[in-house]
Amino acid sequence: MKAPRITEAATRLADQARDAGWTHEDYLAAVLEREVSARNSSGARLRIRAAGFPAPKTLEDFDFDAQPTIRQQVAALASGGFLTEARNVVLLGPPGTGKTHLATALGVAAARHGHRVLFATATDWVTRLTDAHRAGKLPQELTRLRRYGLIIVDEVGYLPFEQDAANLFFQLVSSRYEHASLVLTSNLPFSGWGGVFGDQAVAAAMIDRIVHHADVLTLKGASYRLRGRGIDSLPSIRTTAGENES
Ligand code: ADP
Ligand code: MG
Repeated sequence: MKAPRITEAATRLADQARDAGWTHEDYLAAVLEREVSARNSSGARLRIRAAGFPAPKTLEDFDFDAQPTIRQQVAALASGGFLTEARNVVLLGPPGTGKTHLATALGVAAARHGHRVLFATATDWVTRLTDAHRAGKLPQELTRLRRYGLIIVDEVGYLPFEQDAANLFFQLVSSRYEHASLVLTSNLPFSGWGGVFGDQAVAAAMIDRIVHHADVLTLKGASYRLRGRGIDSLPSIRTTAGENES
């Protein structure tokens, strides 16, 4: 049996069980529980590593004071319920407002909840689908991707798609519709997506499928990096110029 922690846990827990007078059933449950929770957390680690996140980001290190209007929505998403319902999440907002951070953090949460996750930019997804299409394996690739509970598409709208690319992307969205979740980020409002997909009809059909069952979160304000700089540097300048120097 491939259960490396059982040997280790069995001896240690046996002492504890004798001292505390556990029943055999309690003891067995405790030993197996160690193995199960160790498997879950090492499984989550593997899923997080396999997801291809650009940087490690979690919900715990997101500063909601910078985006107070989405606090409730994100808290609801953190439980992972949207994944079992195959709902989507769309994060819209200007550069630096935390879209990639939140998309990654939702992906990490999904991995911890036991879902397989893949992260890539819209451009990378199109490359991947184009390769599969050229190899005559697009249906197989779409089927394979459906085994992932969550696919994250970052940066929709940074680069416009060619017509063929737009059609491939549309197939990805269609194949997941009501089966498995997508998280998408974009610096453009939906009204700007027609320009990205080169065709208003394709964009409209795509947006229709994406938002039919979706939470749309709109991030606002200045870039978090610039804001951080302002907070970190200005007060110390003022202190030095002002009253008590030490
Ligand atoms: P976007 O994808 O919207 O351009 P990012 O998610 O890449 O923005 O955010 C830029 C940087 O600022 C990242 O390092 C990110 O972790 C950080 N950041 C942005 N918003 C927040 C926030 N509210 N709390 C903590 N870090 C944030
Ligand atoms: Mg980003």
